[in-house]
Amino acid sequence: MYLDYNATAPLRPEALKATYDALQAVGNASSIHHHGRDAASRVDLARRQLADLLKCSPGELIFTSGATEANNLALQAAYVQRGLIITSAVEHPAVLETARALSGEASDALITLPVDSEGQIDTDWLMATVRQHGAVLVSIMLANNETGVITDLAPIVEAAHAVGALVHTDATQYVGRLPLDLAALDVDLLSLSAHKFGGPQGVGALFLRRGTPLPQRPLVYGGGHERGWRAGTLNVPGIAGLGAAAEAAHQQLNNEASRVTKLRDLLEEELLAQLPGIHINGARAPRLPGVSSITFPGAPADAVLSSMPDVAASDGSACSAGAPSPSHVLLAMGLSREAADSTIRFSLGYATTEQEMRRAIDATVRAVTHVQALMDATSNP
Ligand code: PMP
Repeated sequence: MYLDYNATAPLRPEALKATYDALQAVGNASSIHHHGRDAASRVDLARRQLADLLKCSPGELIFTSGATEANNLALQAAYVQRGLIITSAVEHPAVLETARALSGEASDALITLPVDSEGQIDTDWLMATVRQHGAVLVSIMLANNETGVITDLAPIVEAAHAVGALVHTDATQYVGRLPLDLAALDVDLLSLSAHKFGGPQGVGALFLRRGTPLPQRPLVYGGGHERGWRAGTLNVPGIAGLGAAAEAAHQQLNNEASRVTKLRDLLEEELLAQLPGIHINGARAPRLPGVSSITFPGAPADAVLSSMPDVAASDGSACSAGAPSPSHVLLAMGLSREAADSTIRFSLGYATTEQEMRRAIDATVRAVTHVQALMDATSNP
C-alpha cells in the first residue's frame, strides 16, 4: 500500500511512454538537423502541456532539475536584487536553507514568520511585515508537504505588489493535485517538480512571469539554454515525461481531487473512530486532497511504521528523512518533540484505491495498538 505520494508519486503510464519514446530517439534539442528538431519538438510540446495545466504562457517556464533547483534559482535571483526575503517557518528546506545561505541569517536580510497550531501563517502579520519592508521578496509555499495545509496566497500577492514586493511560491505539492490558474493568481515566480504529479524524478520547472523585473542570475552558466536562465543540454526524456504527466493530471484533476479527498476522509474517520486520542494536524485548515498528518500519542512513528511494513508512509518529511531531528513543520505548529516523533504522514494520490485504503486503515490500527501496548509495558513494567 503506497501512501507516500508527497515523497514521490508513481510514474503515470502516459509519462512512462513519453519518457521512453524520448529515450529511444537521438537528438540534442539545440541541434538544427531533424534529430535535434525532433528533440526540440518534444520539449516544446511538454512546455505547452505544462503551460496548459498552469494557465500561463509556455515562454514563462524554465525547465530545471526539480523544485529544489527552481527554488534556489528564484531565491538567488530575487535576493541579489531585493536584499530581504520574507518567508515562513514551515517552508521546505529547499527554500529555508537557500534563504539562510543567501542571507547569512542576518535579521535585516531574512524574516521567517511563525505559523499557528493549524500550520497557517498569520496573513495580517505577513501583510503588515511586507508593507513595512516594501520591495522585498516574499516566498511562501502554496501547500505544505507534511500537512497538506494550503496558503491563501491571493491577498498576500495583492499586498506585496502594492508595495513593489515580488512573490515566489513553492507549489511543488499543489501542482497537478488542485486546479491552479496563473492568469488569476498573480505570483511572480513559482516552483514545481514533475515527480509529485506522476512525472519522472529529477525534472521540474520555475515559472517566471513575463515582465517580472529581475536580473538574470542563473545558477548554472553555459550555453544559454532556457533563455539564459539555466544552461545545460536539456533533459529531453525527463521533460517529455513531465509534459505528459502534466497533461494527464490536467485531464483528471477534478475527478482525482474529489476521489482522493473521499479516501483521505475515510482514513481519518476510521482512525479517529478506532484509535481514541489521535490528532490530525492542520485538520481545521484548508488542505490538499490526499494528505493526512496524524499524531498517535504514545506510539513513536518509526516503531509503528516498522510494525506495518506493507504500508509505505512517512514519519515527518521524506525530504529530510535520515536527519535525526524532529519535523520543523510540526514543531513550528506547536507540537512537542514527542508528539512530532509520533506523527505519520499518509499521502494518497491518483492511483490509490479504496481497497488499499481499507487495508492500510486495518494495518495502522493494529500497529498503533501494538506499539502503544509495548510502550505501556515498558514504562510500567
Ligand atoms: N518543495 C517541496 C514543498 C517539496 O515537497 C519538495 C520535495 N519533497 C521539494 C520542494 C523538492 O523537490 P525536488 O525533489 O524536485 O527537488
